[in-house]
Amino acid sequence: MKLPELGGFYFCIRADNKKKIMAAALCSILVALSILTYIMSRSVYAISVDGRTIGNARNRKIIDKIKDDLRLKYRDKLGADIEFIQDIQVTPVRALGQKVDTEQELVDKLNQVLSVQVKAVAIDIDGHQVALVKDKATADAVLQGVKDYYVKMLPGELMKIEVPNSVKLVEKFASPTDIITAEAAKNLILKGTLEITTYKVKQGDTLWSIAKEKNIPLDDLIKANPQLKSENRLALGEVINLKSIKPLLDVVVTKKVTYQEPIAYETQIVKDNTLWKWDQKVKQPGENGTKEVAAEVVYKNGVKVDQVLLGEKVVKQPVTRIVARGTKAEVAFRGSGRFLWPSVGEITSPFGRRGREFHTGIDVACDKGTPIRASNSGTVTFAGRRGSYGNLVIINHGGGFETYYAHASSILVSVGEKVEKGQQIATVGTTGRTTGPHVHFEVRLNGNPQNPLSYLNK
Ligand SMILES: [Zn+2]
Repeated sequence: MKLPELGGFYFCIRADNKKKIMAAALCSILVALSILTYIMSRSVYAISVDGRTIGNARNRKIIDKIKDDLRLKYRDKLGADIEFIQDIQVTPVRALGQKVDTEQELVDKLNQVLSVQVKAVAIDIDGHQVALVKDKATADAVLQGVKDYYVKMLPGELMKIEVPNSVKLVEKFASPTDIITAEAAKNLILKGTLEITTYKVKQGDTLWSIAKEKNIPLDDLIKANPQLKSENRLALGEVINLKSIKPLLDVVVTKKVTYQEPIAYETQIVKDNTLWKWDQKVKQPGENGTKEVAAEVVYKNGVKVDQVLLGEKVVKQPVTRIVARGTKAEVAFRGSGRFLWPSVGEITSPFGRRGREFHTGIDVACDKGTPIRASNSGTVTFAGRRGSYGNLVIINHGGGFETYYAHASSILVSVGEKVEKGQQIATVGTTGRTTGPHVHFEVRLNGNPQNPLSYLNK
């Protein structure tokens, strides 16, 4: 390239006029050649994204400016530093035959193919990334929010808050769609999942039927719903959890709590010989006392796991309940009254009201097999089983009087038989509703139970 130019100069200064014209022409050719050479050797910049050429720029500076503009634009939109995921290469190429793009054309082309990663902060718990948030301040707020949640839901004065897990905040570039809001991150850490799967109770549902329908072990379903008071009763429309809530972060909160607790009253029994043995009377009703308890309670994820008692103070003393129990015993014996005692023994239950029931006779306790005798002469009108009476004998004495003898182990008479006063008619037993061997004895006048003691000699 240099030689023809030097040659041209040589011819120009040594030639005559004719030669001068030739020299001038030659010079022109040389200049034209030089321009052509310049055009042919001129460069433009090919831009490739991940190895694929998308266009050409006149110079490098345009590319740098476009990249900076795009970064700024995404940063404004996403609020964080960004990084292009794709590799952008700029290579000088010969301009000849190449279409050179305008700045706007290049911006449009790049916008179509580029995707960005933004700078975010990953919350790592025990070596696992659990959430991506936009920056460190947000991550700190999320962790504080989780702690505050437990502190607020628990009663008492905060003493200590501990997180046994290893928590790390790691700065990294990530796809903008993977970044979640602070509220979502907090819920995720509290509940272990972004979606709480629930089920609304329909007519006829039971936990068992739901477990079967959803293919979940029944035990898991019970564990996921600690709020249910009864496993067997579900309210229509009630929402139950299908998955256990497993917090991703353990928060141990210690609180000083004061609360009132009842002090149970004691019962004292005193003997009273003015009362029958089967009788008792409350002389003084009991009353629970109250104490104030101060304790340090340790909660893990809102559930009480430990308690250290700090002190107790009695606010109100309990009042002892005093019960008088009778010692007076009635011993049945044969007398000269109108009716004979059916057997001899202790009256373990008198005639009259007994709790919510009415006792239609008296119970005379005797050993099993003791003879039961007819109270008076008469005719047997019933001899056999009758419900809670067990083996029963009924004797009609005339004048509207009947006597009943119940719970017998054996019956020695039959219906229609005439019996004499004092004749053995049965033996003491425990048939029917009894708690021990005794004869249940009734005196009825015109079918109505009378107090047998009014007819027996004392
Ligand atoms: Zn009885």
